[in-house]
Amino acid sequence: MAEIIDGKKISQEIKEELKERVLRLKEQGKEAALAVIQVGDDPASCVYVNNKKKACQYIGITSLSYELPEDTTEEDLLALIDKLNKDTRVNGILVQLPVPEQIDADKVIRAISPQKDVDGFHPENVGRLVIGEEGFVSCTPAGIIELLKRSGIEIAGKHCVVVGRSNIVGKPMALLMLRENATVTVAHSKTQHLKELCKEADILIVAIGKPQFITAEYIKEGAVVIDVGIHRNENNKLCGDVKYEEVSKLASAITPVPGGVGPMTIAMLMHNCVASMQM
Ligand code: NDP
Repeated sequence: MAEIIDGKKISQEIKEELKERVLRLKEQGKEAALAVIQVGDDPASCVYVNNKKKACQYIGITSLSYELPEDTTEEDLLALIDKLNKDTRVNGILVQLPVPEQIDADKVIRAISPQKDVDGFHPENVGRLVIGEEGFVSCTPAGIIELLKRSGIEIAGKHCVVVGRSNIVGKPMALLMLRENATVTVAHSKTQHLKELCKEADILIVAIGKPQFITAEYIKEGAVVIDVGIHRNENNKLCGDVKYEEVSKLASAITPVPGGVGPMTIAMLMHNCVASMQM
């Protein structure tokens, strides 16, 4: 049976470390404030935003809440971002995605100052990641690196297959694994022979957004399996992109859903907020 990679425990460790760092920075007169903008009241977004605010409170960061109506115009949202970019009390700006359809999410991402882009989505920060420069890194992939490292899993020289190529998970994930000296293959919906390819992975990272898609047939015995997906099954229980029951019998280590990658995303957001205090 696979070792369970405990994201809840590891994310708590990170939050404790950050709490300490915030305390020390406050002693030096440094304060941090994260502006959290939500447009509309999508129930899932409300849960995510609340969890982010709670995490801020826990580690000692002020969260400034901007709850805008569903019919907010793009112009008004961009004006608010501009104001927050100029506000020296605000270190980080986060716009909860998705935004309503009258707003272009890409324009919003580009409007946030790269120095306050704690989500790590701005093209300047993505570019920095590509060329190996310091910058904010997308929280979910950064959290996966922490999970692997803090679980003592070696990355260098391993063959890592990342399934999914989204801008917020798959692509930055592949770049981070490359930075850690893995040999990386990125698979997507047009990839041929996906099963055979996944079976070659020492580390398989799955972010395809399809419930329980990856079965034991995709797994090499002893592989490390990271499941990014998050869904509700027919019984309203949370599940991932990986069929946990059967895959955990073959893998050497695996992340559960819930309690794997999910808690790490918020921990790394807090990490980015603390980093923004030191900029
Ligand atoms: P996207 O839908 O943006 O991307 C999915 C990717 O999977 C695409 O690149 C797509 O390929 C690929 N894909 C889809 N079907 C297949 C297939 N049959 N075979 C191979 N590749 C396929 O999703 P995200 O990256 O945003 O998220 C992925 C999952 O992770 C979701 O379940 C999401 O809810 C979850 N998530 C969880 C987070 C957490 O904190 N735990 C944070 C962020 C996301 P193509 O590009 O060709 O279309």
